[in-house]
Parts: sequence; C-alpha cells; structure tokens
Amino acid sequence: MTTIGENAMFTPGQKAPVSGFYTCDSGCGHRFSTNVAGHVLPPLPEGCAGRGWRLAEQRPSSGDEAAGRG
Ligand SMILES: [Zn+2]
Repeated sequence: MTTIGENAMFTPGQKAPVSGFYTCDSGCGHRFSTNVAGHVLPPLPEGCAGRGWRLAEQRPSSGDEAAGRG
C-alpha cells in the first residue's frame, strides 16, 4: 500500500502518487483533484503563494483497475 505523509509536498509536473484531493501548500485555498493516480499535477494557479501541492484527502482505491465497463 502507498502511504503518504501528512506533510508530503508534490511539485507541479510531478505525478500524483495517489488519487484524491490536493491543496496548495500555502493554504490559500487552491485545490486540485484527480481520480487517477499518476495524473500529472498542474502548475499552481496564478497568484498562488504556494510552491506545491499537498494531499488533503486520499480517495480509497476502487480495487482492481477499472475495465471499460458501461
Ligand atoms: Zn494557493
């Protein structure tokens, strides 16, 4: 299992280690969410005082990778 520390920071351009919600590390309220691990984290929004993204809430994995159902 992947364990992410509360203080772990991920820089823009880095791949998100897990799916979930991320917030900028400056606490000014910018958010980013992805439902797939490995998604490249976007640049911080213009005017953001942060330097990277922090994992705010990890979404539980849905088990096996989803096959194209539906
Ligand atoms: Zn921000």
